[in-house]
Parts: sequence; structure tokens; C-alpha cells
Amino acid sequence: MPGSRSLPPLSQLRCEPASPIPSLVTSQSERQRVKEKEPTYTALLESIEHRLRHGQLRVGDRLPGERSLAEEYGISRASVREALRVLSAVGLIRSGVGSGPKAGAVVVSEPSDALGWALRMHIATRTLPVADIVSTRVLLEGEAAARAADVAHQPEHVASLATARSYLEEMDHADISDDRFHFCDTRFHYEISSLGGNIVMDTVIDSLHLATVGYVQEAVPYLNDWEATKRELQDQHRAIYAAVIAGDAERAQRTVAEHIRWFYALSEIGAAHYEYHQKVRDTQV
Ligand SMILES: [Zn+2]
Repeated sequence: MPGSRSLPPLSQLRCEPASPIPSLVTSQSERQRVKEKEPTYTALLESIEHRLRHGQLRVGDRLPGERSLAEEYGISRASVREALRVLSAVGLIRSGVGSGPKAGAVVVSEPSDALGWALRMHIATRTLPVADIVSTRVLLEGEAAARAADVAHQPEHVASLATARSYLEEMDHADISDDRFHFCDTRFHYEISSLGGNIVMDTVIDSLHLATVGYVQEAVPYLNDWEATKRELQDQHRAIYAAVIAGDAERAQRTVAEHIRWFYALSEIGAAHYEYHQKVRDTQV
């Protein structure tokens, strides 16, 4: 991300209505600050970060259209598009469609998707081994499960536990699709992990899960008996849920760790079969 910069004094910062925002550059000092910098897409990124930090831009606000941004910052529309692509890739905006006042991108905050996507790409380069992603997940998710067990008895967690239970029950349906099973599996883990209340930990856990879900989905069709595997996974999910409900932190941590390691070991076998079949297919083309 962009480097250091000198910020205007707090007294110069104005709080503005959250939505819609007619202009990103409002103060003379900010306009000057941006113009003095190299007129590339980084100026726009820095300004948006600055305004987010100071509450002048918030989740749900709509950015001005491409043309307005280019005029305000004195940069080309290509540079504006570059900045918007970066913001989209880091999960900070969702692109608008069409033209007119409602066409600008909307500010969002989806760090898990962005981190998960980045991790997945770096796994693909083999810089980040899947095994290391999985052991990091074991550490963090085990800790989150222990925290969940500590607080599960508190009334404010009734809804999250009920949601986790509904995903657990849905995974028992005989006609559930593989995609839906993986979705419910992810959400079940998320609901349990989030009970602990550490949002950064939840975000990292969620992104680690998202980073490896494609790898698991590729491997699953090559497992010998997916139906038997699902039954075993469900037994493990029920054990995790029971430990959390019982307030047994040590058991919650252990059952989560065993579950993640067990399924990863199985996915490794599936992945080896998948790679073998890919190689066979490639040599036949
Ligand atoms: Zn699971």
C-alpha cells in the first residue's frame, strides 16, 4: 500500500453524512496534498484510505463515477480504473453498473474474501504450502473453539449456536449437493469460531478456509467413498458441537484439531489421485 504521508491536523477534518458523498476531495489542503503527489492511481488510494480512517467515508457509501474521480484527482480514467481494481481486489468496493448517480462503486468491507483469494493464488504458486495453511488453521481454529466453549453458555450466543446447529442438521440430508455440503461445513465452523468474539481471528480463519476449499473440492470426487466420509465428518462435527455446548474448552480444541487434520490427510489422498488423473489426461491430449 502507499507509503507515508503528512496528514492535515485533526481540526481540519470534517465529518460528513455517510451516504451519498458528492466528492471525495473536499478540503483545499487535501486537494493540494493529492495534487502535489505523483498523479497516479496511488493518490486516489491514499485519499480513500485517509477518508475511511477519519470516518469521512464509510461502508455503504457510494463513490463518485469514474469521470468525476478522474477530474477531481487530475488523473486519467485509466488510473481511476486501476485504483478501483485494487480496491475491489482487497475487498473494499463492489463495482457499480450502468451510468448516472447510482453507477459508482459501493464501499464494502469483505476482508475474508480478499485474504482468501490472495492466499489461494499464493498456494497456486507453491510459495505457501497447503500443509502450512492447514496447521495454521488448526492452531487458530482450535483456540477459537476453546474460546467458544468458554462463552457458549452466555445468552447472547443462543442465536449463533442455533445457526451452527441448523447447518449441522442440513449436512445430514441425504440429497444435499456436494457444493451445499461444503458451504454448510464452512458456515458451521464460522459460527462456532465467531463465538469467541475476536474478529481478526475469525477473518484469518475464514480466509484460511476459503484458501483451501478449492483444493478440497477438487480432491473430493477422487475419494473412494464420499458418503462414508460425510458420515465420519458429521460425527466429528457433532463431537465439536457437543464439546462447545458442554463448555469443555479442552475437548472443543482437540476435536476441532483432529477434524481438520483428519480431513486434510484424506484430501491429500484425493489430491494425489486428482493430480494423477490430470497427468493421464494431459498425456492423452
Ligand atoms: Zn468441518
